[in-house]
Amino acid sequence: MEIRYFDNSATTRIKEEVINEMFPYLSVQYGNPSSIYSIGRAAKRAIEEARGKVASLINCKPEEIYFTSCGSESDNTALKGIAYLNKQKGKHIITSKIEHPAILHSCQNLEKHGFEVTYLDVDKNGLINLEKLKNSIRKDTILISIMFANNEIGTIQPVEEIASIAHKNNTIFHTDAVQAVGNIEIDVQKMNIDMLSLSGHKIYAPKGVGALYVRKGIEFERFMDGGHQEKNKRAGTENVAEIVAIRESSRNSRKKFKTISK
Ligand SMILES: *Cc1c(COP(=O)(O)O)cnc(C)c1O
Repeated sequence: MEIRYFDNSATTRIKEEVINEMFPYLSVQYGNPSSIYSIGRAAKRAIEEARGKVASLINCKPEEIYFTSCGSESDNTALKGIAYLNKQKGKHIITSKIEHPAILHSCQNLEKHGFEVTYLDVDKNGLINLEKLKNSIRKDTILISIMFANNEIGTIQPVEEIASIAHKNNTIFHTDAVQAVGNIEIDVQKMNIDMLSLSGHKIYAPKGVGALYVRKGIEFERFMDGGHQEKNKRAGTENVAEIVAIRESSRNSRKKFKTISK
């Protein structure tokens, strides 16, 4: 029986050409990116090229991209990384009731550790109310995390307005853009986004790779202790083949947007 698949927000099929680009890094190009000899340097180069491609997809600097193991890890890192580093400044976080479990459960976890979270309601279209957002901001609010596009009903939040409200109140703005990246053209500079999560398997790369964008100058606590990978922010030998895959799907998404905007 032929399978017709209609659930690209659950996951996407990996593009054939993406698999082909991955192959060498699963076989002959097996170097550890931290090794200083040539096979290691080749792996490192592939990762840095990928960082550039992911960066250009959302219009940030390559050094603002941190590779992770999935969208959930990016969300966890953003929330806990900001919360734990800023706990002297404040312990209040604002999010919405319709976030992905990676955000909602991270918030619940933080509540167990003394943080306070406001979960904003949404209207019948799934949109948060900006006035309510403004009213829920407190002196000790350290982070606002609102998803870009919802994974079940597809609502797109007014992220630019949310970012500007956050910044007027000296608060960091993170967005879970796992469902938006590759579907909506995102410019983190124009939109004034401080942190953004994305995931490989929602954009035609495999499951098990993601990225977190963090605007230069914003400090966060690392989520994974160990080696010095990812500028000391995310330990663990890099998943080179999958990072190469996300490089290819970022390149493809970028191409798609360029054709549309012409
Ligand atoms: C899929 C998804 C995630 C989680 O990404 P994984 O790579 O599966 O961990 C997070 N947020 C949203 C909105 C998603 O759709």
